[in-house]
Amino acid sequence: MKNDSDGIDKKNKKINRIKDQLAKLRAKLNASEDQQSSIPSKSKPKKIKSEIKYKEAKKKEAKIKAIEKKKAKEAKKKEEIKRKEEEKRKEEEAKKKEEEAKRTYEEELEEQLTEDEITGFQLEKTDMDKMCNRVCEIIADYETNGVFQSELWKKLKLSSRDGSRLALKLERMGMITREKILEKERWTYKLIIKKIPISTKSLEGAPCLTCPVESKCSLDSEVSPKTCQWIEDWVILELKNK
Ligand code: SF4
Repeated sequence: MKNDSDGIDKKNKKINRIKDQLAKLRAKLNASEDQQSSIPSKSKPKKIKSEIKYKEAKKKEAKIKAIEKKKAKEAKKKEEIKRKEEEKRKEEEAKKKEEEAKRTYEEELEEQLTEDEITGFQLEKTDMDKMCNRVCEIIADYETNGVFQSELWKKLKLSSRDGSRLALKLERMGMITREKILEKERWTYKLIIKKIPISTKSLEGAPCLTCPVESKCSLDSEVSPKTCQWIEDWVILELKNK
């Protein structure tokens, strides 16, 4: 019996030894595998190379994109400048057209004629002093409202060329003012009286014209219009008649 149990013990011990050896072999094998995995494989340099290539391509692509973006930005900027220039040109053209439309025949005349030609304007076979007084009297009737020059020239049977020159003359003489007005989509002038001309009619009947002491009459002498009863009566009578 003792021999049998010894045999079993021996057998078990042998099995355990074999198991130990197997475990050691497995451990060695694992260690060897770990070591091998830490050593770079031959395929690794290839992988790195392709990664570098990929990165370079990406870099190149980004560079191209940046250049294209810059070009697009510059083109947009140029287009904006061009657009603004075109807008400015159109604006100036419209302004010029508007100014041209506003330009009157009188303005052209003022450019063409000298000041002497304007003030020295004469109508053929016409007493210009009388004519100027007559025109001013008519304009004065319209008081501060003024009158359209075309209406006036029609009344006086004057051509618009002569009328315009006459209006310029009267303005230079300080008798009237001209107001530029847009009437029925056309630029024209309203003539407004500035200085009412003295009519000889208003002096008719004045006592001074037949005064016996007229030669002695002056503002600072004894016989003076300041104290003259004749002139006072005449002024009162004139005012009553008006
Ligand atoms: S103001 Fe009288 S005094 Fe003198 S001139 Fe005339 S009317 Fe004669």
